[in-house]
Amino acid sequence: MTVAIAVSQLEKRYASGTVALKGISLEVGQGDFFALLGPNGAGKSTFIGILSTLVTKTAGEVRVFGRDVDTHIYQTKLDLGVVPQEINFSQFEKVGDVVRTQAGYYGLPRKLAAARSEKYLKQLGLWDKRNERSRSLSGGMKRRMMIARALVHEPRLLILDEPTAGVDIELRRSMWDFLLEINRAGTTIILTTHYLEEAEQLCRNIAIIDEGRIIENTSMKKLLLELDTHAYVLDTDGPLAGDVAHEEAGLSLRKTDAHSIEAVLSGGRDINSAIAVLDGLGIRVASMRNKANRLEQLFLSRLRANGGGEG
Ligand code: ADP
Repeated sequence: MTVAIAVSQLEKRYASGTVALKGISLEVGQGDFFALLGPNGAGKSTFIGILSTLVTKTAGEVRVFGRDVDTHIYQTKLDLGVVPQEINFSQFEKVGDVVRTQAGYYGLPRKLAAARSEKYLKQLGLWDKRNERSRSLSGGMKRRMMIARALVHEPRLLILDEPTAGVDIELRRSMWDFLLEINRAGTTIILTTHYLEEAEQLCRNIAIIDEGRIIENTSMKKLLLELDTHAYVLDTDGPLAGDVAHEEAGLSLRKTDAHSIEAVLSGGRDINSAIAVLDGLGIRVASMRNKANRLEQLFLSRLRANGGGEG
């Protein structure tokens, strides 16, 4: 695997004393679509800021396509396209000019700059707006314009900080399609998000960050496999006399209190098999409820295990 980003022992302490990153190490392969997922304040923007050379790190090393960013800042900037979370363009400039000016910063000749800005504004559905002042764009359009701007020098790596925050669902999907397309064409993409669905739809690999530490770093596929698990709470129609503990492939049962049993099913087993086992033990189920599951649940349980989260 060619490594696009290699980060080791990254630390960031702000002047205020806040330690935003507490020794982060991870790798992102070339061609990957990588999600950095975490709650507010986890350190995502700080991490992105350091990758994109806008925030100075306190300790650690960052390599972009094998180059140390401290000693190869210029080349690193050519390799990177960054879409920050906050609006950071001149609101009075015209849309076309915002994108063309950026091309100028990267030394693209005039003609090429014009061609590229046309290409990306068209792809992002903003070509008709090219002569309008950027402040007149809707929130979603502003974000798309920032994506066009980030791509104008055709970087190998695109970094997006919460790309669809505040973007309505329809636009979000079209933005996802666009990002998937440029990823397929070879651009490595790293994004931060707190929309779990977004990571699930887009990303091949994922890291979960919480309180400045990576608490999970795995493939989306593995994570989803782990999530192919459904948990139910079964309420019994009378108090349970003894203990209930049953384990077999794809089914585990355990007593949680005098009137309820938790059933955990995986590998395509359905709830009827749990009810049949209990029936065999002389236990009748009066009602049941599905415990919320999937990514949200896992995310929360990981955060809890880390001592944070909401529970
Ligand atoms: P996220 O993007 O995951 O919401 P951030 O990287 O923005 O998290 O913030 C991580 C922590 O660092 C937070 O506690 C935040 O308050 C703090 N922080 C972020 N930026 C600054 C800054 N410029 N100065 C001081 N503290 C900061």
